[in-house]
Amino acid sequence: MTDMERKDFKEYARQEIASLKAEIPRLKELVKPVAPDNAIGRISRMDTIVNQSVSEAQLSKAKVRMVRLEEALRRVDEDEDFGLCIDCGEPIPIPRLKAMPETQHCVECAE
Ligand SMILES: [Zn+2]
Repeated sequence: MTDMERKDFKEYARQEIASLKAEIPRLKELVKPVAPDNAIGRISRMDTIVNQSVSEAQLSKAKVRMVRLEEALRRVDEDEDFGLCIDCGEPIPIPRLKAMPETQHCVECAE
């Protein structure tokens, strides 16, 4: 990984972490239990429950991604082999690292 790539990746990871930090409290708000005496009516209540399970899935995904980005951000400076495939030693393309900061394989070795 070149210095430029490292810098670019770090900037990306920081931005992603910042937006996840804003997103997570918003999602937490959405997954709060609906009060049974809520005056919104039975059908809207069903809707709310369905939407909540979607938000719950989004929330857990967001949390996992944030942990992985933080981990990658730590490793990018400490680990000389960060960004190299652990099987073939080839550099993992940056867009792949951005999409999956936890990956340790290039596309070919991952298949
Ligand atoms: Zn590989």
